[in-house]
Formats: sequence, C-alpha cells, structure tokens
Amino acid sequence: MIFAFTMAFMLAIELISPSIKPPEVYLTPVSVYVDRYYVKKKEYGLPSTRSRVPVSLAPLSPVLLGVCYSVLGLHNVEINQRFYESASDGEREELVFHELGHCDMDRAHVEGSIYYKGFWITKTIMHCCGMINGFEYERFHDYYMDELFDDKHALKE
Ligand SMILES: [Zn+2]
Repeated sequence: MIFAFTMAFMLAIELISPSIKPPEVYLTPVSVYVDRYYVKKKEYGLPSTRSRVPVSLAPLSPVLLGVCYSVLGLHNVEINQRFYESASDGEREELVFHELGHCDMDRAHVEGSIYYKGFWITKTIMHCCGMINGFEYERFHDYYMDELFDDKHALKE
C-alpha cells in the first residue's frame, strides 16, 4: 500500500514538474540585456556620465510592458515580468533598450515612420506604446542602434 502511494506520488511529481520548470529562455536574466545596452553605448563612444540604472522584472499591469521612473532623482527601470517570460531575445532587447533610452539617456517618445532602404519602418525604438515588429527590428537592427545611440547619423547610409 505504501509502495503504491509512493508510486502515485512520484507520478504526480512527474506530471506537474514540466509546468514548474521555467522554459529555457526564461532563465536568461534581464542583466544580459542591460549589459548589452551598456556595451553598445560604449561602442558608440558615449560616456557613462551616471551610474547604471537598476533594471528589474516586476508584476506590472498587462498594458504596461516597461516603465522608467524616478524616486528622489534616482532612475529605475521595471520590465513586465509576464511579457519578458514569453518574449523573444529581440523583444527583450528592444524593451530594455527603450526603457534605458528614457532612464539613462533622457530620450522622449518620438512617433512616426521613415522610408529606409525600400521599406516604411518605425522611425525609432523610442516610439510609444508597443513593440516594433520583429522583422523590422531584426532586419534594421543596425539602423535602430544608430538611431538610439547616435541619432544625428542614423539616416546617413
Ligand atoms: Zn517609453
């Protein structure tokens, strides 16, 4: 009887464990994207004039993918944990870079599209309220990096 119970218990563990284990991508810490941001920024020769902005995952409202806020003059970034868990590498990067664009470089939202290399694309990673589609972000990644870190030169080919 005890054996049967143990077997049932082990089976139950087997059955639930796949849903307990986080998927592979979930394990990539947000610091990977934060580090990537500062490495890119350095590549563009931009000085690190202030200390690194803390970035953390948080249970934000579903309508809020990320937020940059300031408490007593200290900036913080929070990334929507639920979105992050299911997001692709590119989406995570775009979101972290966007929020650090606000919090680290004081960039404001800019709307609009531009005609670039034969496509109408979202003008900037700093656009409001949503993600650039994955195709655009991947194909024009260099442009978006230029635009974020060196906007004077972004449109020169
Ligand atoms: Zn924003």
